[in-house]
Amino acid sequence: MFIVLLGAPGSGKGTAGKIIAEDLKLAHISTGDLFRENLKNETELGKEAKQYMDKGELVPDEVTIKMLKERLKANDVANGAVLDGFPRTGVQAISLDNMLAEMDAKVDMALNIDVPFDEIVERIANRRSCRGCGEIYNVVFSPSKVEGVCDKCGGELYQREDQKPEVVENRLKVYSESAEELIKHYENAGILYNAKAGDKHKKTSYDVAKEVEAYINK
Ligand code: ADP
Ligand code: ZN
Repeated sequence: MFIVLLGAPGSGKGTAGKIIAEDLKLAHISTGDLFRENLKNETELGKEAKQYMDKGELVPDEVTIKMLKERLKANDVANGAVLDGFPRTGVQAISLDNMLAEMDAKVDMALNIDVPFDEIVERIANRRSCRGCGEIYNVVFSPSKVEGVCDKCGGELYQREDQKPEVVENRLKVYSESAEELIKHYENAGILYNAKAGDKHKKTSYDVAKEVEAYINK
């Protein structure tokens, strides 16, 4: 089974996606994580992606699609995958349909996690990441035991370049520009699942994950 996660940056789709992937025994594929891995290892791909990522812009389709295509070949994808952060453009959505068709598979569900933008801006601004292991903290809701130090590995916590307010706003703008097209694409395919989440709706990423699993198992 292949599940696509739609939803703005900071909507909690990463957290929900990891839970769903684990429970349904699917691979969890985050294109953002794949790019960051490439950045860390200073690959050519990483160097190319960095200039876009630091500004909150999308990495060009060609580069992103090629990277995802490679990832889909790995053994852990045999059962299917939760795709977190891909597709983000209409071109990517169509190419995903084609790639999966070649594997005799399809997108079975597109999960749109809908959180009000003002909640999102605040959430991302409060995020800190570990330089060592990548663990994510929220200075308000899930702070580390010692400020600025990772509970898991003792690494230094920092605010990612793309978590700074100006960049967050640009990421949300970039997201909005493509969201409608993607939502339509999956709505037309009859596989869109809308989940309202966030403080206002009193629904966490965990709640969303469990709701989706119940729906799938029904
Ligand atoms: P977010 O917190 O926005 O969900 P991600 O970790 O998914 O962030 O992605 C970080 C950055 O990686 C994006 O801002 C973008 O530059 C790049 N990126 C990730 N996925 C894609 C994609 N499918 N197409 C183009 N760029 C992408
Ligand atoms: Zn750490």
